Amino acid sequence: MNMRIAALAVGLFSSVAFAQSYPSKTITIVVPFSAGGPTDRVARDLAEAMRKPLGGATIVVDNTVGAGSSIGSNKVAKAAPDGYTILLNHIAMASMPNQLRNMPFKVESDFEYLGMINEVPMTLISRPTLPAKNFKELVSWIGQNKGKINLGNAGIGSASHLCGLMVQSALQTDMTSIPYKGTAPAMTDLIGGQIDLMCDQTTNTTQQIDAKKVNAYAVTTSKRLSTAALKDLPTMQEAGLKGFEVTIWHGLYAPKGTPADVMAKINGALKAALKDPDFMAKQEALGAVIITDHRTDPVDHKKFVASEIAKWGPVISAAKEYID
Ligand code: ASP
Repeated sequence: MNMRIAALAVGLFSSVAFAQSYPSKTITIVVPFSAGGPTDRVARDLAEAMRKPLGGATIVVDNTVGAGSSIGSNKVAKAAPDGYTILLNHIAMASMPNQLRNMPFKVESDFEYLGMINEVPMTLISRPTLPAKNFKELVSWIGQNKGKINLGNAGIGSASHLCGLMVQSALQTDMTSIPYKGTAPAMTDLIGGQIDLMCDQTTNTTQQIDAKKVNAYAVTTSKRLSTAALKDLPTMQEAGLKGFEVTIWHGLYAPKGTPADVMAKINGALKAALKDPDFMAKQEALGAVIITDHRTDPVDHKKFVASEIAKWGPVISAAKEYID
């Protein structure tokens, strides 16, 4: 065997051996938003459901937050491509490339796509002391308070920011954006009355709506939801906002160059987790819909994200809210 072939054989053998032993240490799922928020919640429930199919591996969640998820996403883009540091992020993977002028990483080429997880509707909610109790009253309250309204979100590029831009554009009004590192702390301030409005995933709002800690006005999907706490809410379209529709999706990503066999193991564990009865029940109770179609495969996950980047570009450029 010449030296080159021998070296190739050793390389091949060690990557096969590596994949066979994967996972042999703790896997970290980076969540680029605050602990206790909707993205974190999906990650913690998913980590629990993926543990068994990964042979009882320890999976921890690391909240690396800020800048609308770009800090945590960049951490994973630059991590060792060994399957031990992976990213769970949402629609920000499609809004960030449209909104951040100096992206520190490339969504299309710095990641391996591991498959999609779920789709989550959003709800438009307000502080409990806001006098408007339905969408019609909200529109007239907004009209009476022009220039004074603030809207919480998880930073430029986040789901709540995107939805908030759509609300402002549909109602032709400008609100002051108050960025947080996630909607968990924003929710605390909304309940406390420090901010007026917020658009957020049902995975964070269902329990608060049910407990009447916030006012809820509408859901962002084209159809009403069946979850008990949300079924009486109109869709934005029923409430009069023509064409308004946004659904948040979540997916898993690994640094570019992660070995194919390791990725296959993670994808297999993800698919098993999506069929885990406990995970399914938790998701359903919070209004989330588990993805069961071809988008749980890496190739179609990547195609879907590319289509979302194209879809949201014009909405974001119309709003002209960028970060340098
Ligand atoms: N709900 C946040 C967002 O708007 C994310 C989070 O806090 O988990 O993107």
